[in-house]
Parts: sequence; structure tokens; C-alpha cells
Amino acid sequence: MKKEKYGFPLDDYISARDFKKIKNFSRDKETPLLIVDLEKIGNMYDQIIEYMPFVKVHYAVKANPMDEVISTLRDRGSSFDAATIYEVDQLLKLGVGPERISYGNTIKKEKDIAYAYEKGIRLFATDSESDLRKLAKNAPGSKVFFRVLTESDGADWPLSRKFGAHPDIIYKLILKSHSLGLEPYGLSFHVGSQQRDIGQWDNALSKCKYLFTAVAEKGVKLKMINLGGGFPAKYLSPANEIETYAREIYRFIHEDFGDEFPEIIIEPGRSLTADAGIIVSEVVMVSKKARLNQYRWVYLDIGKFGGLIETLDECIKYPIYCEKKGYAEEVILAGPTCDSMDILYEDHKYTFPHTLKEGNRVYIFTTGAYTQSYCSVAFNGFPPLKAYVI
Ligand SMILES: *Cc1c(COP(=O)(O)O)cnc(C)c1O
Repeated sequence: MKKEKYGFPLDDYISARDFKKIKNFSRDKETPLLIVDLEKIGNMYDQIIEYMPFVKVHYAVKANPMDEVISTLRDRGSSFDAATIYEVDQLLKLGVGPERISYGNTIKKEKDIAYAYEKGIRLFATDSESDLRKLAKNAPGSKVFFRVLTESDGADWPLSRKFGAHPDIIYKLILKSHSLGLEPYGLSFHVGSQQRDIGQWDNALSKCKYLFTAVAEKGVKLKMINLGGGFPAKYLSPANEIETYAREIYRFIHEDFGDEFPEIIIEPGRSLTADAGIIVSEVVMVSKKARLNQYRWVYLDIGKFGGLIETLDECIKYPIYCEKKGYAEEVILAGPTCDSMDILYEDHKYTFPHTLKEGNRVYIFTTGAYTQSYCSVAFNGFPPLKAYVI
């Protein structure tokens, strides 16, 4: 049987010039490391605004909380969605005014609400009566938006179920918020991260339309819809271009709301930062577990605990490139720790040249989001993933 040559569509992920820059930058550095290209993040922000001039961006800080990333977006005029008072503090320290910050976590301690309010934050998410009462007491008069439960079908990294409530409950909360002295400002949802089915926004928006109409009949006029995140990054599984998302979503809103187009917020995390990051890693070991095993195991110096936790259930499939030449060989990929769940890809077989050996470097693309901040502090003594900006 004739063996196929190893080939990887490098151009799909990086230009030859940028790749050279990455190699030069990382040459003398110990792996693993993450390199984040700030210019790409800035460009992505500009692109989102160009395609969706009708939105206000609240960057979801958790996707990549590096100071430099936040400062880049701050200078572009972005607002921010914070999940904790620690993110709030970081944003304030970096000169982001409280009027540009939303507190988007529906799970909050009372004292944290009070702290955020004291710092000037006046926009909060909620999805339960308990949280609403805490807000009324500790953040009186603030604007609140209500998180509607949605399905995550079609998302590579589902987020729902834990957040949001059924429209019947949200309806009651909206009316209650009014009587508690808060300002019922709008609705939010999150259709799941890396959502490849654009129709999910349509489903969620019809729930919003229903609620806008229902509470209007009681004299409450909502003004805003927060479309959450879910916009795509470029992993192995194909997704539509952001331009297509923008066009379709505009159409869905227009169909439901016509001339009463509401204020629109989006909270992109992954789509703003993922494509701008590359992890450089080294092959620690290559082995075969039995003489007749079909697959070699390739162990990298980064795994689930070092920043690649989104490989859980092989949900996110990162493009991984190696510069060696040879015949294409399917392998099982694993991380370096002593935990047996630290296997990256076993069902989905990654292909590498048969010449791949210990000490070779591999380049993991699309790793600018949900990597460094997800990494363990010192499991097995491994230090946290080092990150650099260029
Ligand atoms: C994580 C999160 C986001 C970001 O989602 P992405 O799919 O990464 O864009 C947005 N909003 C909320 C409330 C989140 O928790």
C-alpha cells in the first residue's frame, strides 16, 4: 500500500511571514509557551464592529485575561463583561471605567455585588429570585438583564443548563425587579461556545421577542438584548465566517423586532482571542505499547492540566502542526502529567510525519482563548503555562 505524504494546510492558520516570526520569537525559549499576537486581536475587534455596526462589544474577560489583551481592547473602545470582583478590580486597575463594565455572572455573593456597586458598576445579569433580591438590596437602582435558558445544540463547548431560567420564570423576575426598585433593562442568553449552528440565535431571539411583548403588556419596556458569545474561532471542524453570523443574526433580529430594533450587546470571548494565540510545545516521548499496536503514542509537554482542558471529550480540536517531513501516520496524543485522563486525542486521530521524534517542536494553533487562564498552578510540579505577547 502506498503511504500518503504528511501535509498540513499551514496557510489556513498563519502566513509564512507570521510563522517565521513565531519561530524566531520562540527559538531560544523553553516550551511549552503561549504567544499571543495583539495586532490580530485588534483586527478581530475591528472586523466584528465592521460586520456588526449595531452592537456594543462587552469582551468576556475570562477567555483571555492577560493585561495586554484587555488594554488592547480598552484602547479600541471595547466594554467588558466581568464574572467576578477580581476581574472587576483588574479592569479598573487597567483604567477601564465602571460604566464600561457589566457584571455578567448570575452566581454572586452579596458582598461582591455591594463591592461592584461601590466601584460604580450599574449593569448586572441575573436569573433567579435569590440573586434579584441580593441585587435590589446591594445595587439599588441598577440596570439588570435577565438570562434566558437556551439549548446548546450545535456548540462544541456547551455552556447552558447551568445558567439562565425558563421564560416563565424570567417573566416573573422582570415584573418583580420593577417593584424591587431595579431597572429591568433587557435580556441575555448564551447559545454555547463555538456554536456552529447559527439558527440557535434565531431560537433564542424568539424567546426574547415573546418576553419583550409579554412584559410590555404589563407596562415594562425592555430596551436591550445581549446575544452572549458563541461566535467561532478557527479550529479543525469548519464553521461559517463571522460575516455570515453577523448577516444572519441581523436578519433574525429584524424579523422579530422590525423598526423597534433593540440595543444589542455581544460578549465575544473565543472569537476575539483564540485565533491570535499559538502554543509552542515539544514532544517529550514517542512510544508503542505493544509490538502489534497500530498507533504510536506521542506525549507532548503540554496537556489537559497545562492549558488544554478544552480537549475534554475531544470537544475542541486544535490544529497542530509539525515541521518534519515524512509519511502521514495517525497517532494518539497525550500530555505529560501522571494523570491518566491527561490524554488529548484518542478517538480523533491526529496525523504526523512518521519521522516525528522526541525533542521536535509542534505548533498548536488557535490557542489564544481558554488556555493559559485554565491551566493548573503546579500539578505534578509543572509550572503554569507561560504567555508572551508580540
Ligand atoms: C464565557 C462567556 C462568554 C464568552 O463566550 P465565547 O463563546 O467564548 O465567546 C460570554 N458571555 C458569558 C456570560 C460567558 O460566561
